[in-house]
Amino acid sequence: MQANSKPRFAIIGAGMSGILSAVKLKQAGLDFTVFEKAEKVGGTWRENTYPGIACDVPSHLYCYSFAMNPDWSYASSPGAEIQAYFEGVANRYEVEGSMRFGDAVTRCEWTGEEWEVETASGYSDRFDWVVAATGILHHPKYPDIEGLDSFEGAMFHSARWDPSVPLDGKRIGLIGNGSSGVQITGALAPRAAKFSLFQRTAQWVVPIEQVAYSEEQRAEFRRNPEQLQKLHQELDASFHEGFGNAVLDGKSEFFDTIEKTCTDYLEKNVADADLRAKLLPDYTAACKRLVISHDFFDSIQLPNAELVTEGIKRIESAGIRTVDGRLHELDLLVLATGFHVDAFMRPMTIRGHDGILLDDVWKERPSAYMSIGVPNFPNFFMLNGPNSPVGNFSLIRTAEMQFDYMMQLVEKVRSGELDNAMPTQQAATRFEEERTEAAKKTVWASGCNSWYLDDRGIPAAWPFPFSRFCAEMSEPKFEDFAAA
Ligand code: NAP
Repeated sequence: MQANSKPRFAIIGAGMSGILSAVKLKQAGLDFTVFEKAEKVGGTWRENTYPGIACDVPSHLYCYSFAMNPDWSYASSPGAEIQAYFEGVANRYEVEGSMRFGDAVTRCEWTGEEWEVETASGYSDRFDWVVAATGILHHPKYPDIEGLDSFEGAMFHSARWDPSVPLDGKRIGLIGNGSSGVQITGALAPRAAKFSLFQRTAQWVVPIEQVAYSEEQRAEFRRNPEQLQKLHQELDASFHEGFGNAVLDGKSEFFDTIEKTCTDYLEKNVADADLRAKLLPDYTAACKRLVISHDFFDSIQLPNAELVTEGIKRIESAGIRTVDGRLHELDLLVLATGFHVDAFMRPMTIRGHDGILLDDVWKERPSAYMSIGVPNFPNFFMLNGPNSPVGNFSLIRTAEMQFDYMMQLVEKVRSGELDNAMPTQQAATRFEEERTEAAKKTVWASGCNSWYLDDRGIPAAWPFPFSRFCAEMSEPKFEDFAAA
């Protein structure tokens, strides 16, 4: 690549981090194409349309730092509103003209000088940089339960909602009580004739008041953008620095406080002692991602609702048979059973320096230096990639910092200091060793099963203080990067 040239970027995915990349590249006057497999922007908010969907991260935190939204209806706004926000940002910053919709990237190959990117339709083009903005939670995980395909009613994953299936007055079964399952319970239990939630493990449910913003409050936010910015900063500090740091010490007293809050809420809001006992987890709070809800306990106590804790034996044509021999007859079965979280941008053939395949490098599990780059994959960066900070906070700030970090490497290449940029193997190994040791001490490793854990049971997440993440992202350690 020539020094000072105008590099071309391929961005994979038009979700939260893809739109972010497009806006920032456009503002920098750089050339880019966003490849999106679906027909419109939105990522997770386009894919997840289940009843009750909302973001449990406060809306005034869950937005770009450069595009505050004064018009959120609730502190925890509904999914459709968040989807509209992302569409609005893409529209306002006029980046959709550089997006190819309905065409998935199938192959990225480093030629020695640039990336050849090919799509399912056979289109191909060459780029200097590839940004994988593909998200984490997008490959639905179906439960491995005997007879799953024999069910004769309607059945789908929470992220593949079929809006044509009637819900009112139906017998609805739901497997899974994570963040998705709990939101679905709140929305569907009141509408079903019979609602059965199949719970394998109890969840810590943190109460949250559903605060609506009045028209006057929204008008005030519109008039006073500084107030909006201040609110964003306050929420950012409390979620990222407060909660984000507490999870790093599995024995922190912080969890006693959370457990007490949740237990008090359970005691006060669930009348029946047996049901309370079933809803009380036996592991440390925040070991799994905390579930946040204002209506779960009310919904599960409705006369037509049942919390089923007997294990599932098999699925039959008429419903779910539990190990006690009972058949729970159903018209609709919803699988809120989570996602395959180790795919990232795969399936995709990604061939780096010397023809090395990413699938081979990641044969055991995905790994990345600073969650951003992989040795032997020059000029290839990920947003919210492997081991990125995760938790009960906004992934948007993380992606913004990762993008700015990447751009500093882009500048090194543009200025001719480096021919291209990739983390060295030594830096990646050093980082991963330190990260793994720290991850073992976090609350996520304190004795529960969750999607945060890798195949070894080690949390696949950023296990250091959030302030360290901010510091690392503020300027790359350039000595940890080299050209291929
Ligand atoms: P999840 O947290 O992975 O939960 C999956 C649920 O399915 C768990 O209750 C799990 O039980 C259950 N399950 C899986 N396989 C099962 C089987 N074979 N038999 C019985 N139960 C089974 O998935 P999710 O609820 O979709 O949430 C995933 C992530 O998406 C969240 O952690 C969060 O990061 C994000 N999310 C965010 C929001 C938001 O408001 N910000 C909303 C929804 C989702 P076990 O606990 O026993 O494994």
